[in-house]
Amino acid sequence: MSEYLKPLPKPSPTSRPFWDAARRHELKLQRCAGCGKFIFYPRTRCPYCFGDQLEWRAVSGRGKVYSYTVVRRASHRAFTDPYVLAIVELEEGPRMTTNIVAAPESVRVDLPVVVHFDDVTPENTLVKFKPA
Ligand SMILES: [Zn+2]
Repeated sequence: MSEYLKPLPKPSPTSRPFWDAARRHELKLQRCAGCGKFIFYPRTRCPYCFGDQLEWRAVSGRGKVYSYTVVRRASHRAFTDPYVLAIVELEEGPRMTTNIVAAPESVRVDLPVVVHFDDVTPENTLVKFKPA
């Protein structure tokens, strides 16, 4: 296996459950027990009601492209090929910055997508999306 040269996540105590779930190929988000909203990115308090009773819940992995761009001029030497940088709006509400694994010309706003787990190293799984 060749060395993986792109930057990798550095989980914090707050975000570690997200990354641990990803390694098991599960998409989990925090849900606020106070107001019932799902939130992303991982936090210690709900941004809607400021409650601190956040629990990790498995979610559908389905969403749609809210916005995207095709990165053709990389700012890091490991990103040699064009890639799709997107904001996906999840079925549960939160928006996630991610990659769409697809030919750039096939991506459009509102494209239905489904989660895709990319095991980039034995310890690291990245959460990406692909056309549904
Ligand atoms: Zn809340």
